[in-house]
Amino acid sequence: MTYVHKSNNNDISAYIHIPFCEHICYYCDFNKVFIEGQPVDEYIEALLKEAQLLQEQYPATNNKTLYVGGGTPTSLSALQLDHLLGGLREIMPFTDGEFTVEANPGDLTADKLNVMKNYGVNRLSMGVQTFDNRLLKKIGRKHTAEDVYQTIALLEEKDFSNVSIDLIYALPGQSLESFRDTVKRALELGLPHYSLYSLILENKTMFMNWVRRGKLQLPDQELEAQMFLETIEAMTKAGRLQYEVSNFATPGFESQHNLIYWNNENYYGIGAGASGYLGNLRYKNHGPIQHYLKPLKEKQLPIIEEEILTRKAQIEEEMFLGLRKLSGVEKQKFYQKFNCSLGEIYQEKIDQLVADELLIETPKALQLTQKGLFRGNDVFEQFLIEKNG
Ligand code: SF4
Repeated sequence: MTYVHKSNNNDISAYIHIPFCEHICYYCDFNKVFIEGQPVDEYIEALLKEAQLLQEQYPATNNKTLYVGGGTPTSLSALQLDHLLGGLREIMPFTDGEFTVEANPGDLTADKLNVMKNYGVNRLSMGVQTFDNRLLKKIGRKHTAEDVYQTIALLEEKDFSNVSIDLIYALPGQSLESFRDTVKRALELGLPHYSLYSLILENKTMFMNWVRRGKLQLPDQELEAQMFLETIEAMTKAGRLQYEVSNFATPGFESQHNLIYWNNENYYGIGAGASGYLGNLRYKNHGPIQHYLKPLKEKQLPIIEEEILTRKAQIEEEMFLGLRKLSGVEKQKFYQKFNCSLGEIYQEKIDQLVADELLIETPKALQLTQKGLFRGNDVFEQFLIEKNG
């Protein structure tokens, strides 16, 4: 298998996965386990070993961004966090980029925040989901709206200002009024970044099971679209500009780490079930914790799947990912990466999508229209090269 670095500077970001949670939410299909009885310390050692092996085998000269996600990173104790973050900072060539940790409201303590500050964490992303306590209970979250306010107060006290919250809409039983109230309360916090995702029913979740058995009803598509539309309006009015289908920020506070994904740049995926993208190689790690730990004990990377992307696959990914950004796919960057113009491959499709008012073509870029934002997947699939035939 040939591995080719895409660029000479080897700027590689890193995602580090903590698969432990203190409770399991009914809608969640992430790679996670209930923390009790899990080999957490051993897992942290394994993460550091994996980071070390990746550095040896696919060296980076710099990490543009670091992102510790989950699962629930804040389910670790302050001591465990100290060991993990301290170890990462020793191994990874990270200097002054964006360093995010995901947090659950209610799990953050002054001790944990001190540890994060100490190792240069400069961004927090919090899974709030909704401010409606009744709905929080219904979706299996353990925190309440009051926990969110307390956590935000603690973050202010500790001088963390680059904070993002995640919200979910189209939840079962969620009315438009409840959703409007959540958006209003979220914006009242005055944070620089908000992510809003519609609930996606995933296989093997409690929710899917309940919907199949008719025990749970989700809002219809019309209501979901209305919630999305109102989100865009409220966020824009408050100066949080939509820079990606589901993400809104005060200019200058866009998630640099997520932009790595949408710009189709390189990152290590470290941890159980994590995926990485290095040069033309996409890989995925073993998901179950014991399967992940085993190869690392023998100083082997815990990779279960590897794919060397063809040029065609790289071009398709560039389009799917890039079009998620409101700034779209930049023509010049595309040319630099693939040594051919967008028009050479896609002009006919582009003209059709522009005529259908789903895309805008400017001299510099290709972007989704407002209508295109609501039909993202229909647009993205047009960029499969076979379809262009
Ligand atoms: S949604 Fe987050 S906190 Fe809930 S089970 Fe999934 S990973 Fe854990």
